[in-house]
Amino acid sequence: MIPAVVPGWATLVRAPNPGPMTLDGTNTWVLRDPSAGSCVVVDPGPLDEGHLAAVAAHGPVEAVLLTHGHPDHVEGLPRFLELTGAEVRTGSVRAAGLVIEALPTPGHTADSVSYLVDGQAVLTGDTILGRGSTVVAWPDGNLGDYLASLEELMGLGPLVVLPGHGPVLPSVAEAAARYLAHRHDRLAQVRAAVAAGASTPREVVEAVYAEVDPQLWGAAELSVRAQLEYLS
Ligand SMILES: [Zn+2]
Repeated sequence: MIPAVVPGWATLVRAPNPGPMTLDGTNTWVLRDPSAGSCVVVDPGPLDEGHLAAVAAHGPVEAVLLTHGHPDHVEGLPRFLELTGAEVRTGSVRAAGLVIEALPTPGHTADSVSYLVDGQAVLTGDTILGRGSTVVAWPDGNLGDYLASLEELMGLGPLVVLPGHGPVLPSVAEAAARYLAHRHDRLAQVRAAVAAGASTPREVVEAVYAEVDPQLWGAAELSVRAQLEYLS
């Protein structure tokens, strides 16, 4: 894989909330064209004073954008707005010298949005992570929506991925194709487990996610419920 190059207008401030679901921690992205006097912040992250202060130090903050409403991305939002006086914006924005286009990418959650910046890179939130795969957080998340979102992201071509967790990736087309292949493999495994007699989501998890850390089985069960719903 070619190494990913982080665009000059993007700065990563990683939150100190590492864990099995958050990888190294939540990625808070600060976006600013070098010529601009203010920045845009995507996902303030958890309510951690040190982290929020480190992000606010990149200000003035012109606008805050959110990839979705999970607490590891938005818990710190009210405090961050208090610290910076910034406003939350939805949809596409022109700010910090950049054109930021909102692309609804439901599936991980119903409210998941990705952001295409200056046609150069895409912020994917939890729709595509820098490492591993993501959870379809049933019942809010929906697998049919998720597969359609991945197809749409694949169509963007070889743009840099700035994900909500984990490292930057060189190509959203490659990453989305890999995620789609993984989802189709898992669907085939779920079908096989059901055919072999697994009759509850938990039994499917035990058959299909046997190699996954049992700490993640709760999350895996949500994905299995999403897959069973999709197959029904
Ligand atoms: Zn999430």
